[in-house]
Amino acid sequence: MSERSEVERAIESLGELRLIDYHTVGDEIVAQVETLRKPVYCPICGSVAEPKDRRTSTIRDLPIGNKPLVLLWKKRVWNCTNPDCPQVTWTETADFVSSRHSLTNRAKLDLARQALIEKVSVAQLAQKWKVSWSTAMSSIKEVQDQIKVNSHA
Ligand SMILES: [Zn+2]
Repeated sequence: MSERSEVERAIESLGELRLIDYHTVGDEIVAQVETLRKPVYCPICGSVAEPKDRRTSTIRDLPIGNKPLVLLWKKRVWNCTNPDCPQVTWTETADFVSSRHSLTNRAKLDLARQALIEKVSVAQLAQKWKVSWSTAMSSIKEVQDQIKVNSHA
């Protein structure tokens, strides 16, 4: 399989994104992505929304082979078309990543698995995933809490 189709497949498997383009920086694959187009409505009044702007978020996903994958998510900023609505603009969100997080949910899970099962240290994981120590630690805690919730259900 070509590298391009591997990158495409990785992005598509997140379920919400499509690949715009990608390039290799050092040993990393840096992919520009956007959400799949679908009609968007204002969360306040339900009117049709129109795209107004883009805002880029940098998010790390699972590596492809041994190459780290960095997503440059070109988030859409939406604008309500109803002039009487108090909701002026908002930035899109998605299910593959929690808001303000720098790792996709599946990357977070993998990082936590390496810490909890393979007993890799938080410092090593932070270095490997190129995130701060506190990001690595909070990812592990979050997954641990989810496991606790599930086992009590
Ligand atoms: Zn509105």
